[in-house]
Amino acid sequence: MQAMPTDVVRELVATAHAAAATGLVVGTVGNVSARIGDHFLISASGTRFDSLSPAQLCELDCDGNVVAGTLRPSSETGLHRAIYRSRAEAGAILHTHAPWSTALACVLDELPCIHYQMLALGGAVRVAPYRCFGTDELAAVTLAALEGRRAALMSNHGAIVFAESPAAAFEAMQVLEFACRVYWRAAQLGMPRVLDPQQWQEVAAQVQRLGYGVTHPRRGRGR
Ligand code: 13P
Ligand code: ZN
Repeated sequence: MQAMPTDVVRELVATAHAAAATGLVVGTVGNVSARIGDHFLISASGTRFDSLSPAQLCELDCDGNVVAGTLRPSSETGLHRAIYRSRAEAGAILHTHAPWSTALACVLDELPCIHYQMLALGGAVRVAPYRCFGTDELAAVTLAALEGRRAALMSNHGAIVFAESPAAAFEAMQVLEFACRVYWRAAQLGMPRVLDPQQWQEVAAQVQRLGYGVTHPRRGRGR
């Protein structure tokens, strides 16, 4: 057994704690992982997110063999592995049963793009059909729902996102939960309006133009 890289371990632990602290994960449901070369680290099955420790992580190789850690890896390891195998841009994956996401995943076939923040997820978010947790069937339908996207809802189950890092996956999950909550509230009042592809392009151009999303030094007296 070899030592796990400490910076990735630290980031995974911090992400699990943040997901618990913000109500995205309650108790032991959900799992988190990060790619390291052609291996990946994943939370052990049945771990509590609020107290997840480095000893509750497992390292697996690309064939799915455990190469470090003493606990049994997450029951959704096959799903995480399938995503790493087919999506080169996936550096970390977060799966939760976040309440608003899970509620809408019981009703919708797709969460429409109702807010520009959803462009970080790839736009509208598909709902994968229901399959039992921890199965190859669930991995297959969820992978299909992620086609061209970085997020999916899982019918009557929860949500999954991937991003370049655990911290970025946490942020993406927060955006998805926010969008589900906004959609639900808006749908109480009427049919939510949906952003069209031209509006997506306009947002993408504006983000690019402003370097939007991080702070910048102010230029002179203007903006
Ligand atoms: P694990 O505790 O095995 O990761 O399972 C939690 C879960 O969310 C299954 O879908
Ligand atoms: Zn689950």
